[in-house]
Amino acid sequence: MMNEILNMTINEMPRTEFDCSCGRRHNFSVHDMAIGKGAIEELPKIAEPFKEDKILVVFDNNTYEVAGRKAVELLRAHGFHVKELLFDVGEDILLPDEKTLGRILQEHDMDVKLMIAVGSGVLNDSVKFVTSRTGIPYIIVATAPSMDGYVADGAPIISQGYKYSPAAHLTYGLVGDTDILQTAPQDLIQAGYGDVIGKITALADWDLAVKANGDYRCDTCVTLVRKALDACFAKAQGLKDRNGESLGALMEALTLTGVAMALINISRPASGAEHMLSHFWEMDSIARGENPHHHGIQVGVATPVIARFFEELEDILPEGTKEQCPSHEEIERLLAKGGAPVSPKDIGISRELFHESLLKGYSVRPRYSIMQFAKEHGRLEEIADKITKEIYG
Ligand SMILES: [Zn+2]
Ligand SMILES: [Zn+2]
Repeated sequence: MMNEILNMTINEMPRTEFDCSCGRRHNFSVHDMAIGKGAIEELPKIAEPFKEDKILVVFDNNTYEVAGRKAVELLRAHGFHVKELLFDVGEDILLPDEKTLGRILQEHDMDVKLMIAVGSGVLNDSVKFVTSRTGIPYIIVATAPSMDGYVADGAPIISQGYKYSPAAHLTYGLVGDTDILQTAPQDLIQAGYGDVIGKITALADWDLAVKANGDYRCDTCVTLVRKALDACFAKAQGLKDRNGESLGALMEALTLTGVAMALINISRPASGAEHMLSHFWEMDSIARGENPHHHGIQVGVATPVIARFFEELEDILPEGTKEQCPSHEEIERLLAKGGAPVSPKDIGISRELFHESLLKGYSVRPRYSIMQFAKEHGRLEEIADKITKEIYG
């Protein structure tokens, strides 16, 4: 059946292969996903093929308390052979650097045939990276709906002080238990929500790139992401008080974006000009030796800014593109609805950095975006000045 993935629930999507109306055949190779209340109970079933082998379960003090202990108990009760690796971080932040990756490798006994990461960003990326290099699968038990990298094949890590994102592999299985996600700190929930908000302009940018630059498009992926966004925004109000259904919809939106990316092997459904601004700000923080804001918080506040570009360029946009992007006021309302910061000013981005990012953000990566479009039409400086003035006075 064509585009059959559109009729599936998220937990039915693993191991799907189908012919798409875009002309390509897509496949989604993740083996199992369990998202919902009490989903961690599914872990032994997902890990079943590795019952005869040793499993390394990786967590830190925080993720052990909220999910790691339970994961280990469940596996042992079902007769699995489990080894534990605890990162005792105390109040520090774990970094995906040489030390962390090396530590995981040291605990990677010859007979370990599966790893389970219990955590979100750094633990997920570190275990993903190491297992991709040693050629064994991993399962992620998510502890926060903080980003869209659970179903993504890149692993952002740090080497000699520099952050980069080498190719790794997709997860074997994903567990997103809303009872566990409810224990996530509010700033991580806001970050995940901001990353989802960013998909609004990512999709508009993709439409522009198809029409103005001849890029490839898959309408099935666009529909998949749009449906997930609508479901997430409809329940966004409840994110402020960690409503289980709201967190489930957020986790689904983040995961479905990953599914869309995995289907077509490009990040277009997830990332457009709003991500370029966020990366520009992040690199500035790193260069100054400061801790950047969470990725998704920056993406969230960058989204209405990019919507302003679409508004300013309305007179020369290709037909139908403006309709792909809601007004910046509407996006700001959505951010506020979910309790996320709304303006770059709210998160301490300086006027100078903001202005510079509008002028140079398009060069962060070679990808056609609304900022590139503005530059090509000689409108970039005028728009950058205008938006900076609107926000910073
Ligand atoms: Zn993102
Ligand atoms: Zn397609």
